[in-house]
Parts: sequence; C-alpha cells; structure tokens
Amino acid sequence: LMKKHFGQHLLRNPLVVKSIVEKAKIKPTDIVLEIGPGTGNLTVKLLEKAKRVIAIEFDPRMVVELQKRMQGHQYAKKLEIIQGDAIKIDFPFFNVCVANLPYNISSPFVFKLLTHEPIFRHAVVMFQREFAMRLIARPENNLYCRLSVNTQLLSEVKHLLKVAKNNFKPPPKVDSSVVMIKPRNPRPEIQFTEWDGFIRLCFLRKNKTLGAIFKQKKVLLMLEENYKTYTALKNIKIPKNRKTMKEMVLDVLKKTKYSDKRARTLDIDDFLL
Ligand code: SAM
Repeated sequence: LMKKHFGQHLLRNPLVVKSIVEKAKIKPTDIVLEIGPGTGNLTVKLLEKAKRVIAIEFDPRMVVELQKRMQGHQYAKKLEIIQGDAIKIDFPFFNVCVANLPYNISSPFVFKLLTHEPIFRHAVVMFQREFAMRLIARPENNLYCRLSVNTQLLSEVKHLLKVAKNNFKPPPKVDSSVVMIKPRNPRPEIQFTEWDGFIRLCFLRKNKTLGAIFKQKKVLLMLEENYKTYTALKNIKIPKNRKTMKEMVLDVLKKTKYSDKRARTLDIDDFLL
C-alpha cells in the first residue's frame, strides 16, 4: 500500500495528531479543507471540531480506506472526500486548511495556498523541517531566501511544532515541522509575477550586492526586454531620448542607496521600497 511517490508517511502518534488539531483552532462553524487525509488519522479528529470537512486525496486506494473507516461513523455525513491532485484541482470554499502532504510538492502547495482566493483564516501544514525553517527565516539567517520573502509578503508564518521522524509510519528520512500560515488580509496590492521575478533576481547570487547583480549585462538585457514588452502591451511610447537601462538601474540603486546591500540582509519593507 505504501507507494513511495505518494509520500505516504502516516502519523502514528495520537498525541501529535491531537496537537495539530488543537493548533488549528477550529470553530464549530468552520469548513475545514484537509489535504492528503490518507487513512484519516487527522480527519476523524477534525470532524469532531468542524462543521464540515472536505478532504482531497490523490490515491484512490487511500480514498477507499478512508471511506471504509468512515462507514457508520457518527460524523460520516460531515465528510466529503474528493479524489484528485491537490496541486491541480480548484479548492472549494474553506475557513481552515490542514495538510500533511508529500514533501516534494511543498513549494507548489505553499504557492497555491498563498495566492488562494477568497482569503481563508489560516492553514496548519506539516513540512520537512528545513523547508519549514526557510518559510519562517528572517534576514541574515542562513536559510533566508526567495521562498521566505514571498511567503512573508503574503502571510504571517509561525512555527508551531517539531515532529520527529519516528512519529510516522513508515518513518521518513528527515524530521518535520508543523507551521501556521495566516494570509495577510487584505493581501498587499502587488503584481505577484513581477514581484517574484524581481526577488528571484535579488537572490540570484546570495552574497553579491544588488549593485553587482543589477549591473550584469545579462540582467540588464533581460530588464530591457521586459521594459519593451511592458511598454508595447500598455501602448506606452518609448521617448526617443530615454535613458539606457543601465542608467535607469543606476538611478534607482543610487536613490534607494541599495547598491552595496545584499538580499540576505533586506526585509519585506526594504524590498517593497
Ligand atoms: N494525513 C495522513 C496522516 O497524517 O496520517 C496521511 C499523510 S501522508 C504524509 C500524505 C497523503 O497525501 C497520502 O495519503 C498521499 O496519498 C496523499 N497525497 C499525495 N500527493 C497528493 C496530492 N497531490 N494531492 C492530494 N493528496 C496527495
């Protein structure tokens, strides 16, 4: 049953299950979205607290296991099981999300949560320990990266619980952590794709100054291309005597005084400036 690519490490410690459900702070009126319910260890506890639980499970065999477990269960009516890939299908409306997913889809899953609309109250998610630490890393921390900046731009993240590998069956190779992700409400008004492209550039070379990164020929050429596409799309006339991309970039670096700064030292507000 335990096929490797589904990342089926089931939580076998009831205390960890209990703790996750408590930390999710579920109200009796809540609709809970559970991702990757597996055999339902978390699901049955979530059903005790929530008005409704909608569970998305990829593996049809797990869906059958869960259906069996729920047969004749007092809360069976509160549960809806959707068979599908949580990364691909549209989420239904929910207030709280609880997820224990395979770690190879952590990145796309976080991205999907962060950009999900309408805004939900919070998500409580199990991650590989190092990934969790990246999500919450602050400037100057070794793990501070593009993922930290994007996550913290769109949400408040908090470490909730360390979970050692022996709490799972079979045990994974690495330890895990449970993290709370609370979307910022309202969401910052920002063109996320452009922002992400910009942050990607800033973190291109972790230890290079922004000055060094943005003066590279490659980067300047790319910015020039983007500028041309942008002005064409928006029907903006490019002035004949406009500055070169290099001059424009140097102006910004000078104005912001960021030329000698490194991405790893800047926080969200610095990047937003
Ligand atoms: N929640 C259960 C527990 O804690 O015991 C099971 C957790 S297990 C780490 C991950 C579960 O996610 C498995 O049941 C697996 O089949 C399911 N899964 C894997 N990829 C998925 C995907 N893309 N969408 C939805 N579920 C997925």
